[in-house]
Amino acid sequence: MDLNQLLHKTFGFPNFRANQEAVCRAATEGRDVLLVMPTGAGKSLCYQLPAIARGGTALVISPLIALMDDQAAKLTALGLRVARIHSGLSRDEARQACRDYLDGTLQFLFIAPERMRVPNFPEMLAKRKPALIAIDEAHCISQWGHDFRPDYRTLGAYLPSLRPAPVIALTATATPTVQKDIVTQLQLAQPALFIHGFRRHNLAIEVVELSKPRRNQFTVDLLKSPANRPAIVYAPSRKAAEELASTLGGNAAAYHAGLDPGTRERVQRHFLSGKLEVVVATIAFGMGIDKADVRTVVHTALPGSVEAYYQEIGRAGRDGQPSRTVLLHSFADRKMHDFFLDRDYPAPTELSRVAAVLTGDYQMPDILRQRLHMDVETFDKAVEKLASQGAASINIEGNVRSTGHTTWRTGYDAQLAFRRSQIDRMAAFAETPQCRMTALIQHFGDTADGLRPCGHCDFCSPERATAQTFRAPSSQ
Ligand code: ADP
Ligand code: MG
Repeated sequence: MDLNQLLHKTFGFPNFRANQEAVCRAATEGRDVLLVMPTGAGKSLCYQLPAIARGGTALVISPLIALMDDQAAKLTALGLRVARIHSGLSRDEARQACRDYLDGTLQFLFIAPERMRVPNFPEMLAKRKPALIAIDEAHCISQWGHDFRPDYRTLGAYLPSLRPAPVIALTATATPTVQKDIVTQLQLAQPALFIHGFRRHNLAIEVVELSKPRRNQFTVDLLKSPANRPAIVYAPSRKAAEELASTLGGNAAAYHAGLDPGTRERVQRHFLSGKLEVVVATIAFGMGIDKADVRTVVHTALPGSVEAYYQEIGRAGRDGQPSRTVLLHSFADRKMHDFFLDRDYPAPTELSRVAAVLTGDYQMPDILRQRLHMDVETFDKAVEKLASQGAASINIEGNVRSTGHTTWRTGYDAQLAFRRSQIDRMAAFAETPQCRMTALIQHFGDTADGLRPCGHCDFCSPERATAQTFRAPSSQ
């Protein structure tokens, strides 16, 4: 059947969105695909439609139960035959899903990546090969990404046994480095590359150089206007988030990883319902939050990477209405990042250095341990062993492996250099006078965009910037 007809008949959409048709065509023809489009652009359709067009069962690998459940519910509502296998389901449900898969009655099977480590599971899948394999949130495979998941890393090893199905890797955040990593790790065969849609027409991006002590007042003034709410404010620390939230008052709340799950859930719910109009969050907020009418996103400090920044400002204006993003920064922000880098990449004799080597992140050992899926005892033993040898690394499967000092140093230095380059690029973005939207699109390597100036940012349209109204009274 024609792909257009299938789009109408199965999904009830009148048209493809930009780029969807070309992607669907490539995947339907059996080509491997790497698809990089921003959140909300409609990536799911790009594996779902080809899956239906090709017939058979599509195997979908997804990192979060919530994402799996959401997609499965949507497809089921469309009358499609779907099953999931994840840790939130009973053994019986999982067994039934396997039976249905082997009977060939499923159109979609969703699994978590760690399922591949369950003995005999990959063999079971290989008995009846899928017609298409989709790897959602594929940036999780790359240790250069900020959501690195060790279980994604091992996927590549299992894919050959499930071939010849085409593999389609989807993500919203992949710089050229991460893109290359995805292609290599998954052994994609001459993949069709689609890197599109990073231009957001309704966002007015603003960057304001402002000393730290003045930033809270700026934010309070900005969010006084009802037209600028609902809003998400990203703060650099839990303490900063708490402080600003209490300055903002009753319709604002803080959201960070230090709060108990109940409080976090309540903040999220009240923000979605409109009871709360401003959330002041650390990076922990936003995954899976789908609030369409966020009018303003403020960063009260320089983020650590352009990828994180883009992802966060992307939560503004999902409904297509004009929205504003404001980044507050100064040279002091660079100093803050340098401080964290020094802390996380200390002298080689310390344990924390071992942890830093392995995470390549502003992460402390416990987070590393969780990422490696190790229990405390195994991890402690591993670290002890490493420390006693003076030089070693833990590979991503979680096995301890000692290596020569050189290898270790190389990995460590590469990680540190990578972090530094991310911060450099973020600082360069803030300091370079250029259309903000164009700078972002160039950063992501969008090949199809004409790179026209956006017309709304503080560079294209300085007279509309909020900083003018703020500066005027205080400079008297
Ligand atoms: P992504 O994975 O890129 O973040 P999704 O695949 O979840 O985005 O899609 C976002 C929304 O867009 C979904 O509600 C989906 O139904 C809708 N959508 C996708 N393609 C189309 C289309 N061609 N026409 C209308 N709506 C679409
Ligand atoms: Mg998606």
